[in-house]
Amino acid sequence: MINKLPLISDLKIASGDRVLVRIDCNVPLDSSGNIEDDFRLTSVFDTLNYIKDAGGVAIIAGAIGRPKGVFDPSLTTQPIAKYFAEHIYSKCEYIMTVPTADDTFLSIEACKPGEAVVLENLRFFPEEEKNDEDFAKVLSTLADFYVNDAFGQSHRKQASICAITNYLPSYAGFCLSREVAALENVLENGRDPVVAIIGGAKVSDKMKVIEKLLERCSYILIGGAMAFTFMKSSGQEIGKSLYEEEFVQLAGEWLSSGKIVIPSDFVLANSIDSQETVISSSIENDQAGFDIGPETISNFKNILSNANTVLWNGPMGVFEKEQFANGTNEIGTMVANSNAYCVVGGGDSVAAIRKLKIENKIDHVSTGGGATLEYIEQGTLVGIEALKNSTN
Ligand code: AMP
Repeated sequence: MINKLPLISDLKIASGDRVLVRIDCNVPLDSSGNIEDDFRLTSVFDTLNYIKDAGGVAIIAGAIGRPKGVFDPSLTTQPIAKYFAEHIYSKCEYIMTVPTADDTFLSIEACKPGEAVVLENLRFFPEEEKNDEDFAKVLSTLADFYVNDAFGQSHRKQASICAITNYLPSYAGFCLSREVAALENVLENGRDPVVAIIGGAKVSDKMKVIEKLLERCSYILIGGAMAFTFMKSSGQEIGKSLYEEEFVQLAGEWLSSGKIVIPSDFVLANSIDSQETVISSSIENDQAGFDIGPETISNFKNILSNANTVLWNGPMGVFEKEQFANGTNEIGTMVANSNAYCVVGGGDSVAAIRKLKIENKIDHVSTGGGATLEYIEQGTLVGIEALKNSTN
């Protein structure tokens, strides 16, 4: 029997109940600790407000960066507590001690219904990334319930994602359940034709994803450097463009499915730092392709105009540089204006969408990069399975 995902909306929270909420607070911070992009934090507002409105006390836990089990003052969660105090709570204390310390218990005990605390960066403690049962047990003593609202971290086997579900009644928050519903809307219930747009640096990173999508999609539009591995497989000249020799044969097999659409022209330059660019369908020995060209954009647009479901993951070029950002921006605008059901995932594609301020025109913009890819590959994530198997 397939276990159903237990949802926070099934949880009856009484006034004063303590709810441990795992969020994805891995947000970019500037050198003064200011939050540069709050997308991942606004995504958990519904869950935090639901707990607050019921009079629950939220014990918010998450991680920033990769401190690898040691304290790093530049990665504390203090800015997260400050942010939630400004946007949601009248009081939201940052707890700088380890979760086991008496002070942690005292701070939580002092909370009134509807207040919250933010625990210190969980990755300061090596037990977190080891999915340590004892660490999870300690975390569980802080709360009455556990809610996972960290989709972007749910592919990781960590104490606050997996082991914790052995010790507390466990539920999926609204952000996590929205993410799963959006991916199901594409992969299981998507109206045909389903079209995927896949970009980024390497075929090797997205190999399993492309394999899965070939089963589901009518077309996969390929952009980014990975397009050159496909071009190489059909004997085309790619100059100095990036490609992966060991994947050329596989790319050739995929191409013969007739579902893969590769670019027909590019924005070319002699180096990634060059401001001088040329648009062409043929690539000279001293040139490399850094973005898709106008003919490709128009071809992709035609295919997308017939799609009923669209999934986009990965930039079409070196979008961080203005001279190579056009393809990614055009695809973003196309997806936003499409009548199809559209889901965008992956840090770079989401960054492009947010820069263009068009995220509200897209059906679902995912908070997860690696998690989205793993979900497509496996149809689930370890954190989701842990919630399903929790004995609530
Ligand atoms: P990924 O993490 O695999 O999604 O790759 C994203 C990175 O791929 C971005 O930093 C882009 O700058 C880079 N990228 C995209 N297209 C190209 C290209 N044609 N040549 C070199 N790098 C690229």
